[in-house]
Amino acid sequence: MLKLYNTLTNKKEEFIPLVRNEVKMYVCGPTVYDFFHIGNARSFIMADVIRRYFEYKGYDVTFVMNITDIDDKIIKKSIDGKKEYSIVAETFANAFLEDLKKLNIKPATLYPKATAHISEIISMIKSLEEKGFAYNVNGNVFYDVSKFSAYGKLSGKNLEDLESGSRVEINEEKKNPLDFSLWKKAKEGEPSWESPWGNGRPGWHIECSAMSCKHLGETFDIHAGGSDLIFPHHENEIAQSEASTGKHFVNYWMHFGFLNIDNEKMSKSLGNFFTARDVVEKYPKEVIRLFFVQTHYSGSLNYSVELLDASKKGLEKIENFLFTLKEKQKSAVDHAKKIPFSCKKYYSDFEEAMDDDFNSAKALAVIFDFIKEVNRLFVEYPQLDKPFLEKVEKFLQKTAVDVFGIASFERKEESASLENELIEILIQLRITAKAEKNFALADKIRDDLKSLGIQLLDSKEKTVYKKS
Ligand code: AMP
Ligand code: ZN
Repeated sequence: MLKLYNTLTNKKEEFIPLVRNEVKMYVCGPTVYDFFHIGNARSFIMADVIRRYFEYKGYDVTFVMNITDIDDKIIKKSIDGKKEYSIVAETFANAFLEDLKKLNIKPATLYPKATAHISEIISMIKSLEEKGFAYNVNGNVFYDVSKFSAYGKLSGKNLEDLESGSRVEINEEKKNPLDFSLWKKAKEGEPSWESPWGNGRPGWHIECSAMSCKHLGETFDIHAGGSDLIFPHHENEIAQSEASTGKHFVNYWMHFGFLNIDNEKMSKSLGNFFTARDVVEKYPKEVIRLFFVQTHYSGSLNYSVELLDASKKGLEKIENFLFTLKEKQKSAVDHAKKIPFSCKKYYSDFEEAMDDDFNSAKALAVIFDFIKEVNRLFVEYPQLDKPFLEKVEKFLQKTAVDVFGIASFERKEESASLENELIEILIQLRITAKAEKNFALADKIRDDLKSLGIQLLDSKEKTVYKKS
């Protein structure tokens, strides 16, 4: 039984989908005015791991991640850089998709863009106005939070707490400081669209309500995002969607913890960030994913080079094992002594951990235990048969590769073949050195390779090598 922590009820609950074997999931995506940072990447990667685990369990997942392609920050960047806002948005939307790929994040079923949904947004605002939840002041349309009696149900706060304790946009046109923009009247030189309230553009919250409703329906299973979005963004989405449709909006709300630097949230506005594309230049994507998977998705996590280096060591353990496994497969025999080993316990431990609110840290420990035990068997049983090795490979394929995306069988082969090519180049270089009577260099190449565990064996015809 899969349980997940629901921010709406503050409880771990059994996951019961609306439609059997299907999951409809919406995750708040980026505002495309810049490259995304490694903090954003944590939310994107953990959403990806959750989606992959549902797929592992046999669910058919519809995974929607929006792209906010019109917003104050995009407009500011377009004015500062003297570029069309749409060029800025397109540039960074493309960079976003490229970076997701670099992080081994599976493509979403759909990446809806706000500017492609203006008519759906307008229809939703119109229905809110007709039902008395919205008011228009000179072309600026606001949501009237006092009309939605359940306002605050996600963040668990009442209106008074929210008014006193939150940072809300000050605007004299609003009846209540907590009211928020549904439609923003056009300003000189800014992009705008026609609407029943005059030219303008949508507010941020209404985009997600309109796009999730269009692509996943009025009620769907899971809505996720970083925990900074609980209030006001997700609270406002609930108010908009439930007031306009009259239906319950989302069954399970999931929130990702922050990635911090020196115990402060990593964010663009604080300037304490590293872009995901810079980090992925320095560390393989598997290391970055492992770094996040090691911690439960909801807790906060500190970013540091030391922690990433530790994840690198973890990855090496997995990769070395995959390499040994491939080697063992090459020398597998048809009939070997029966090994008293079953993957069953490891599958069930892995699932037990992941079924418990996606406890990836615990599930990862199961993978490392598995590797440790099989490594022990490799020593104990020098002769192994194919079915045993296939079972081992399948477990790692389904868990480390398919669910966590922290390993790849191809990668090790790729790097192994690159390594072999580099050794061949050094062997040729040594032959040239010898021909030129530069014996010091020839010996240095041989000794340096030896210290890396690569022994050169010279014969009359050629030089071959052996890895220890
Ligand atoms: P933004 O582009 O700022 O709207 O953020 C895109 C997604 O990343 C949202 O789901 C945010 O909640 C999430 N996010 C932003 N900063 C962080 C952070 N430091 N750690 C984890 N998630 C974050
Ligand atoms: Zn959103």
